[in-house]
Amino acid sequence: TPTLMWFRSDLRLHDNRALAAAAQRGPVVAVYLRALPHWRRHGHGANPLDFRARGVAALKEGLEGLNIPLLHRDIDDFAEAPAALLAIARETGAEALHFNREYPVDELARDAAVVEAFEEAGLSATGHHDAVAFAPGELLTGKGDYYGVFTPFARAWHRRLDAERLALSEAPSPQAPTGVDSDPLPSLPALSDTPIDGRQWPAGEAPAADRLERFLRFRGRHYARQRDFPAVRGTSELSPYLALGMISHRQCLQAVLAENDGRLAEGDEGLVAWVNELVWREFYRHVAVGFPRVCRHRAFQRHTEALAWRDDEEGFAAWCEGRTGYPIVDAAMRQLVATGWMHNRLRMITAMFLAKHLLIDWRRGEAFFLRHLVDGEFCANNGGWQWAASTGTDAAPYFRIFNPTTQSQRFDPDGRFLAEWLPELAALPAKARHAPPRDLLGDTGYPAPIVDHKAARARALDAFKALNRD
Ligand code: FAD
Repeated sequence: TPTLMWFRSDLRLHDNRALAAAAQRGPVVAVYLRALPHWRRHGHGANPLDFRARGVAALKEGLEGLNIPLLHRDIDDFAEAPAALLAIARETGAEALHFNREYPVDELARDAAVVEAFEEAGLSATGHHDAVAFAPGELLTGKGDYYGVFTPFARAWHRRLDAERLALSEAPSPQAPTGVDSDPLPSLPALSDTPIDGRQWPAGEAPAADRLERFLRFRGRHYARQRDFPAVRGTSELSPYLALGMISHRQCLQAVLAENDGRLAEGDEGLVAWVNELVWREFYRHVAVGFPRVCRHRAFQRHTEALAWRDDEEGFAAWCEGRTGYPIVDAAMRQLVATGWMHNRLRMITAMFLAKHLLIDWRRGEAFFLRHLVDGEFCANNGGWQWAASTGTDAAPYFRIFNPTTQSQRFDPDGRFLAEWLPELAALPAKARHAPPRDLLGDTGYPAPIVDHKAARARALDAFKALNRD
């Protein structure tokens, strides 16, 4: 009888722990559950859904080359997952199901329900830790708690890492035809928001591997120096592929080992800095499991729950639409909406601007990002937002409030990024683009700043000082 492999955010054949385990048992039938209404209810926008759909199509092509059929089923809600999967097990005669674990609270509960339903039916369902080097709970502080601070987590991560954790799993070999037919892939129905042009983000393992190779060949060694400048393509732009598992963190780390004399924590400064970002990715997954309140719209730092966020619909709309009058914020928000991606430095600047300058609840920004980002991933997004709002782990101290203008001068010194995304400012001298004087703006239509930096900063400080820290 075949073994079922349930694909979710691990849309690849190579180095896939659950797929390799399933294939070891014999013939495999792949399963994909599409829960569009569920994803829509949870705020996923057209960009991530479109990228996901294209990823499933690329996966199906790869599976076909191995004679692995893909059963594709639509459900309304993941509460239906146990029944849908049991129905497929009955249909195919499968007795075992394998999947790779996902870590936010709802996903853990969904998977636990599937395992229970399979066991009750006398079948087995097995979750694998694939998207992390260490399963959440494996790295704990001396007191046995989950880490709430990154640096000691990263130290423990490096110290305990061994070759086995980084070993790549083999892709399955072609199997004899199973007699099970693949389902045709339904197209993505028209959504109220329209996805960006998918050619910017070709989906699948091949484009992901290609990106990794080009990044390491041309940019990896310059990463530490270039990563903060949005006008320079200094980062890997692999986040959508990592988020949906079109590439694994092990494949990334193995490629670094090959380039860096078998080392991850020392050696080339650029490569070491890049590895550190992959550890951040893992850290936030552990945080989601260790402190599940963050998955329930709660702050990591409990005392910040009482913060008096402002109701400011106009300010929120200006932020979303890139018309705050702060060019670096506006250019970044336009990049997000137009490309489904935003540079990390800009994610920090725009998030902090919303949470501090506008004093608008970070959860609104978190949701807006999740709707637009092709790489939208709960743990990293929540972690990034809570950091920026000073409500999270490693919280930026609340009095650290980026000045958007000096950030702009520092990280886009020639105003190149500003000119690219705000063509109305391109004719201004580069130095004037960061905070354009009114008299140079003429009839460009570019707005005046919606808040004054100093006054907004003082307002945010007051709001944070009013919190009771006990
Ligand atoms: P690189 O610099 O090449 O880094 C390599 C990989 O490391 C990334 O692809 C990503 O998987 C991981 N990574 C890098 N930085 C971080 C980080 N700070 N936290 C966790 N993982 C990281 N990343 C997402 O993948 N999805 C999100 O939804 C997301 N939302 C964010 C929201 C905010 C407010 C902030 C401040 C950061 C967010 N990040 C998110 C983290 C980071 O901005 C992106 O991962 C990065 O910009 C992606 O570009 P890259 O692939 O070129 O990264």
